[in-house]
Amino acid sequence: MMRSVVNLDRQATCPSCGAGVIFKFAGARSVVCEYCKSVVVRSDKGGVEAQGRMADLLEVPSTMPYGSEGKWSGEWFEVTGRVQMDRAGAPGAPWEEMLIWFPREDRTTWVAYAQGRWYATTEDKNPPPLPPQGSLNVGQQVDLGQHGLFVVQEIGQRRVVSGQGSLPNVPKPGVVTHYIDVSGPQGAFGTIDYGDGTEPPALYVGRIFDPNTVELEGGMPLEAPEAKVTSAECPNCGASLPIASSSAQRVVCQYCGTASDITSGTLSALGPAPRPPIEPYLPMGARGNFRGTDYVVTGFVIRSCVVEGITYSWREYLLFGGDKVGYRWLMEEDGNWQFIEPIETGNVMDSGNGVMLGGNQYTWKQQVMASVDYVIGEFYWRVEIGEMVEATEFVGPGGKVSREKTPTEVNYSFGTPVDPSELQAFGVAPPPTMMGSSSGGSSSTMIIIIVIIIICCLILAMSDCSGGSSTYGGGSTWGK
Ligand SMILES: [Zn+2]
Ligand SMILES: [Zn+2]
Repeated sequence: MMRSVVNLDRQATCPSCGAGVIFKFAGARSVVCEYCKSVVVRSDKGGVEAQGRMADLLEVPSTMPYGSEGKWSGEWFEVTGRVQMDRAGAPGAPWEEMLIWFPREDRTTWVAYAQGRWYATTEDKNPPPLPPQGSLNVGQQVDLGQHGLFVVQEIGQRRVVSGQGSLPNVPKPGVVTHYIDVSGPQGAFGTIDYGDGTEPPALYVGRIFDPNTVELEGGMPLEAPEAKVTSAECPNCGASLPIASSSAQRVVCQYCGTASDITSGTLSALGPAPRPPIEPYLPMGARGNFRGTDYVVTGFVIRSCVVEGITYSWREYLLFGGDKVGYRWLMEEDGNWQFIEPIETGNVMDSGNGVMLGGNQYTWKQQVMASVDYVIGEFYWRVEIGEMVEATEFVGPGGKVSREKTPTEVNYSFGTPVDPSELQAFGVAPPPTMMGSSSGGSSSTMIIIIVIIIICCLILAMSDCSGGSSTYGGGSTWGK
């Protein structure tokens, strides 16, 4: 296999517009016509046919420039294609995956980036027997034969919106396809692609990789995609709102409470969100070095659960540590603070009533249905008031393991106690002792509710429900 030599059988004419197209590598089944965006597919009979048309390329943060070359652990590669996808039923948050071709062995790998992690997956052309579509639930173990045991992390639907270049078999643009993301030990990762159900499922396996193993042309390092904007104007009140991360999907104005979508690069208003009954203790945009990492406070959430008719609430602050670090959380309930860090689903051995993590046993403490009551700031998922998640806590050495589960996704995180003096890293005065607050209403009813809750807190000082947690994790848990 030699680069820059194109075999004649890799050249074809676009059936749609007549332009010349080139299948860049032997395994390329399709190529996107540069002129008319038709997906030109090699047919079994040796000819080509057009299968749908890609939309114009979307403005999404790019991970690796299309067409660029580089070395991966010393092996030469070329970026020969990319696809842009979004989640079926939730458009407006597209992401991009790059196809990397290694000419020496004529093999390809998909590369994606999300919330501080880089993923590389390669198709297993001879996969082990794969479970039929619809037979798995999130959190369930799945045996992938020689690849080992994995856990179902996410069940979803997506569609290809746009793309470019030479690609292996790619679904027709706009067709809804089903997939399951699985997580294994030590960063192993995979996707079972059920397509539109007309073909047998395909298996892609790989792992989270260290971007330092990749060197782009000219010695350029592989860098996390840059944020598109660093501030944006609230479409309702005109306030300038800081945008910290390229992963931002929702912004709720801290001044007027208008919720907006940010995925197109500018804010488009979705509607008003109720104002939180209290001001966040850590101001939006506050920066600080917490436990050795620089963070900016990007979001504030009040969540609650109801146990035996009583509402308990707690507050969560979303911290962004830059695109290489991703997101963390600080959670406060009754003046007690926890620092919450994501853990890979595949590193947790979950038996239901206990989990094993790093050789330690954590025992089941409580399980609640946690709902989002108030939000302000910037979020990496499409946060919605009222969204619910099943939150389970396990306690053991060093802190607690939290499991957050929806019908389509499971995420784990680890929480460690925070001394309130540590919060002064964010330039705030020592925190007051906060009490729980409940949902909405006028200020007078709020006072009554707060008084009731203070009484409840006093009565139930030793009671449970000491907190759910959040999507402290890799993927966004809710509302994809
Ligand atoms: Zn064409
Ligand atoms: Zn506003």
